[in-house]
Amino acid sequence: MALRAALLGVAEGVILLDPDLRLILCNAAARRRLGWVGGSPRRGLALTTMLEHAGALDTAERMTIREHCAALLAEGAMPAIGRDSAAAEKELAFGDFAMRLRWLDGQGVMLSIPMGGDGGEVALRDPLTGLGNRRAFQAALAAALARPETEAALLLLDLDRFKHVNDSLGHPVGDALLRLVAQRLRASLRGGDTLVRLGGDEFAILLPRAEGAEPLAERLVDLLSRPYLVEGHLANIGVSIGIARAPADAAEGGMLLRRADLALYAAKAAGRRQFCLFRPEMDARAQARQALETDLRRAVALGQFHLHYQPLLEVASNEVIGFEALLRWEHPARGMVPPAEFIPLAEEVGLIVPIGEWVLRQACRTAASWPETVLVAVNVSPVQFADGARLLRAVDEALASAGLSGTRLEIEITESVLLRDAAETLATLHDLRGRGVRIAMDDFGTGYSSLSQLRSFPFDKIKIDRSFVSEIEGESGGKAVVRAIAALGASLGMTVTVEGVETEAQAAFVATSGGHQMQGYLISRPVPSDAVAALLAGRPASARAGLARTASSDGA
Ligand code: C2E
Ligand code: MG
Ligand code: MG
Repeated sequence: MALRAALLGVAEGVILLDPDLRLILCNAAARRRLGWVGGSPRRGLALTTMLEHAGALDTAERMTIREHCAALLAEGAMPAIGRDSAAAEKELAFGDFAMRLRWLDGQGVMLSIPMGGDGGEVALRDPLTGLGNRRAFQAALAAALARPETEAALLLLDLDRFKHVNDSLGHPVGDALLRLVAQRLRASLRGGDTLVRLGGDEFAILLPRAEGAEPLAERLVDLLSRPYLVEGHLANIGVSIGIARAPADAAEGGMLLRRADLALYAAKAAGRRQFCLFRPEMDARAQARQALETDLRRAVALGQFHLHYQPLLEVASNEVIGFEALLRWEHPARGMVPPAEFIPLAEEVGLIVPIGEWVLRQACRTAASWPETVLVAVNVSPVQFADGARLLRAVDEALASAGLSGTRLEIEITESVLLRDAAETLATLHDLRGRGVRIAMDDFGTGYSSLSQLRSFPFDKIKIDRSFVSEIEGESGGKAVVRAIAALGASLGMTVTVEGVETEAQAAFVATSGGHQMQGYLISRPVPSDAVAALLAGRPASARAGLARTASSDGA
C-alpha cells in the first residue's frame, strides 16, 4: 500500500496510533468511514476516546478494536510474554466495511480501512428496522447542534438481555424482536424527534428540546420491558438509557455523545432497566479509569507484573502441599496496586487475556523448581474462558515450556464463569481435566446458585470464601456455614479448602469442622518466589507458628 497516497485520503482510511495507543493521525477517508462525530481529531487522543467519535461503530465493535489493538501491542512489544509474528496483523469485519490492524514494529499500530467499490458512501437507512442509521444520526446531530443557542437532548438506548434472546431463540427471532422494539419506540415519539438504530441492540433518540427527556426515558424503560410475542415465543428484555443535554452537558456533538454514553454506562452499572442523566463526576471517573488503563497497557509492555505465592496447608499432615499464585503490579508511582483494583479493568478492556497467559507461564515455570509433590494454583478469569481454545493452548504451552505435568496445576475459577455459555465452559473445563489439571471453585458462597453449580461440574476442590471464616469467632452463623459446606464438599468427593485463616482459633475450628486444607495470613501471607523454599523447608515444632512468623513480605 502506498502510505503517502493513503494518508492523503484517496486510497483508504488510515489511522496511526503510537505505542501508548494515542492518535498520531486519522485521515479524512477514515473519518468518513467511521462516521466521525464532532470536531477534527486531535493528536494524542486516547484510542478509547477516539473511538467514541466513531459514530459508525457500536460499543461492542469499539471494544473489539480496543482489544485487538491491545493484543497486538502486548504481543508485539513484550518479548517476556512471547511474541507471535502471525498475530502482527489482524483483519476485522464490521457490517459494511473491514478494518485491518497492523503492528508497526516499535512504532505503534496502524488501522486501515479499504474503501471498497462504493467509494465510502453509506446509505442512510437501517435495512432491518427501516429506521435511520448511524450516518443519518450523525447528520441529524450535526444539524441540530449547528444552530446557535440550540437546545437538544440525546438518549442512548441499549437493550438488556437482548443477547440472551438472540443466543437462545436464534437470530431470526432476534431480528424480529428488534423490529418490534423499533415499532414501540416509533410510536412513543413526536414529530421533530429523531430515532435511529446505531447498530446491534443500540438505538438513539435526539429530541429538539432538553426538558422532555426524563419523562420520555421513564416511559420507554417501562414500555420496552413489557413482554414481546415474537414468532410464537414470549421474549422479555429491558432497556438501559443514558441521557445528555445540550447545551447544559455539552454543546458539541462528539462530546454530547460521549457524555450520553457515560450516563448509559452508569445506568447499566446501577443494575440496568433504568435511565441515568449525565453528571460531571462521570467525566472524572472516566478520566481516572482512562489513566489506569493507559498505565495498565504500559505495565504489560514493560513487564511490571510479578507473582507472589501463598501456601496451602494440609490439615491432616500439617504440611504445605501447594501454593496459589497471586498477581502483583508494582507501579513506579502508584506503588503496589492490588489485583482487585486492576483485574476488573483488565477484564473489561481485554488485557486480562495476555496477562493471564503470562501468569500461567510464569507460575508453571516457578513451580517446576519445586518438589514434585507441590502443586501450583492459578486464578483464571471468566474472560479467558470466553475463548476456550486459546485458554487450552495457553495451558498446554505453559506446561510444556516449564516441563511441568498437568497434575501439578490447579486452575481456580469463580462461580461467574459458569453463568455464561455454560455448555462451552463445561467443555473447556473437561478438556483441562483431561490434561490432569485440577479445577477448584474459588470464593465459594459469594456468588449465585452455588449448589446447582457444584452439581454441574465435578470440581476437585471448593475454596470457602474468607468472608465466612472471618465470622467464625462471631455469633452470626459463620461456623455453621463452614461446617455445612465442608460436609457438602466431602460428600461430593471434593477437597475443601478454607481461605482467609488469620487466627489460631479459626485454624482450630477448621481442623475440627472437616476442612482439608487452609490458607491465610496465619500460615503465611503471599510471598515472592524466592521465599517459597524457606516455607517448604518447614520449621521444626509447629510448622504453622513457624510459618506465621515469616508473614511480612506482602503488604496486601
Ligand atoms: P483469591 O483468588 O480468592 O485470592 C485470595 C486473596 O485473599 C488474595 O488477595 C490473598 O492475598 C488474600 N488473602 C489470603 N489470606 C488472607 C487472610 O488470611 N486474610 C485476608 N484478609 N486476606 C487473605 P489478593 O492477592 O489481593 O487477590 C485478590 C483476588 O484477585 C484473588 O482472590 C483473585 O480473585 C484475583 N487474582 C489474583 N491474582 C490473579 C490472577 O493471576 N489472575 C486472575 N484472573 N485473578 C487474580
Ligand atoms: Mg484464588
Ligand atoms: Mg478466593
